[in-house]
Amino acid sequence: MSSKPIAHPTLDQLATGRLAASASLTYRPYWWEAAAPRETPPSALPQQTDVVVVGSGFTGLSAALTLLRAGRSVVVLDRDAPGFGASTRNGGQIGSGNQKFRVKRLIELRGRAKAEEMLREGVAMLDYIEGLISTEKIDCYFRRCGRFRGAIRPEHYDAIARDMEDLRNVAGVESFMVPRSEQHHEINTDLFHGGSVLPADASLHPGLYHQGLLHRVEDASGVVQGHSAAIAVDATKDGFTVNTLSGQINCRNVIIATNGYTDGLLPHLTRRIVPVGSGQIATEEIPEQLFSQLMPGGRVYGNTNRVFYYFRAAPAERRILWGGRVSHLAPSDSVAAYRHLARDVLSVFPVLKDIRVSHGWDGLIGYTYDEVPHLGRTRNGVHYALGYCGTGVSRATYFGHKIALQLLGDTEGRTAFDDLVFPSFPAHPIAKRAVPVVETWYRVRDCLSK
Ligand SMILES: Cc1cc2nc3c(=O)[nH]c(=O)nc-3n(C[C@H](O)[C@H](O)[C@H](O)COP(=O)(O)OP(=O)(O)OC[C@H]3O[C@@H](n4cnc5c(N)ncnc54)[C@H](O)[C@@H]3O)c2cc1C
Repeated sequence: MSSKPIAHPTLDQLATGRLAASASLTYRPYWWEAAAPRETPPSALPQQTDVVVVGSGFTGLSAALTLLRAGRSVVVLDRDAPGFGASTRNGGQIGSGNQKFRVKRLIELRGRAKAEEMLREGVAMLDYIEGLISTEKIDCYFRRCGRFRGAIRPEHYDAIARDMEDLRNVAGVESFMVPRSEQHHEINTDLFHGGSVLPADASLHPGLYHQGLLHRVEDASGVVQGHSAAIAVDATKDGFTVNTLSGQINCRNVIIATNGYTDGLLPHLTRRIVPVGSGQIATEEIPEQLFSQLMPGGRVYGNTNRVFYYFRAAPAERRILWGGRVSHLAPSDSVAAYRHLARDVLSVFPVLKDIRVSHGWDGLIGYTYDEVPHLGRTRNGVHYALGYCGTGVSRATYFGHKIALQLLGDTEGRTAFDDLVFPSFPAHPIAKRAVPVVETWYRVRDCLSK
């Protein structure tokens, strides 16, 4: 029996829906071509360890590494293959996490002193991940490439200019504005009305970064066990018993690091996280001459819409990786799920209409009610770090490290986020189901305001 070859659609075909019957994409993260999650069957778990970490993404592995370096024994569990979650599916754009709120709004919500502390800690997170990658010698294309954010409307330009000024005054973050007349030095499009540049923002290959962390954890004698979902955490007189699908482990401490993949394991956390889908596509390689004109700034890019998109070049290949919201109308293993992303690409770079799209995939980001990540301990002593709201490459790494230090009783574990109340979502099941409705409404507003 001969299997039909996959016909990758062009961006134009994908955007318009004029597709050959055989049109298809590779429905898995482009990053997995270089670093696929390791598919090994679960083996027998140790019966005893100092710390069980639930979730093997950046948070879980970063926490594990800090604990192992401090002499603790650690077992990291994942429901799926290690790294199956957002950590190997993301855009690899690294910021300080300062862009969730306008600085003025953050000050209104939290007060000037707390806002300053949080913003400055965002910068520390970026420095921390850079330092970790360097000391652990993880080869993952980390680069301080800077971020360009394109203004979709003229008034957005003025608004981000004011925000960048506030960011500099409050937290000392350097940035500069690029007017529309000069934006072709950064990006070859006429769509944006100028934009802002945060030159210290960075990028990496998330698959290789995750793989590097995993190797360091295992080199330090940590156990990372895939296909071993934690199904119950029970307090005992000396700590906890964690029941998994592949056995039971007794431990002194537990860290939950499940972010957008948080299930019903601890209802306390389930009520505080809403998973939101994010999708991405990768193009095939683009001819050199065309590719070199697209993003001469060599940065990571995004826009100012409520339902925003983000994009960048692949490290060491002439492809574009483009992300945005998922389609709620089509399954993620169908070309239709990625149509809106192809339309977004062509709105910025119409010249790419004949370039083919090779990969399409999605993943879950963990949203909190106050759009701030949280770390701490539940009433019965389980530690947690999660809720990065879509900006988690540096934040998850940093929060994983900090929650491990807190567990160790190290005062270096203190963060500006420790004393924040972690609110639950009012009517959580409804909030979860309402995500597509809210997104659609935001999309309509983005379109109306063009
Ligand atoms: C498509 C996409 C694009 C993104 N782009 C960016 C970006 O460019 N820049 C940025 O900063 N951030 C980005 N993010 C967000 C970022 O990837 C995440 O914030 C970060 O990876 C979270 O890491 P984590 O370790 O906390 O969680 P994850 O990496 O999601 O890992 C959680 C793990 O927990 C496991 N798990 C859940 N329940 C259980 C259980 N009961 N037992 C065992 N295991 C369990 C899951 O299987 C999963 O592997 C993006 C996210 C997505 C989905």
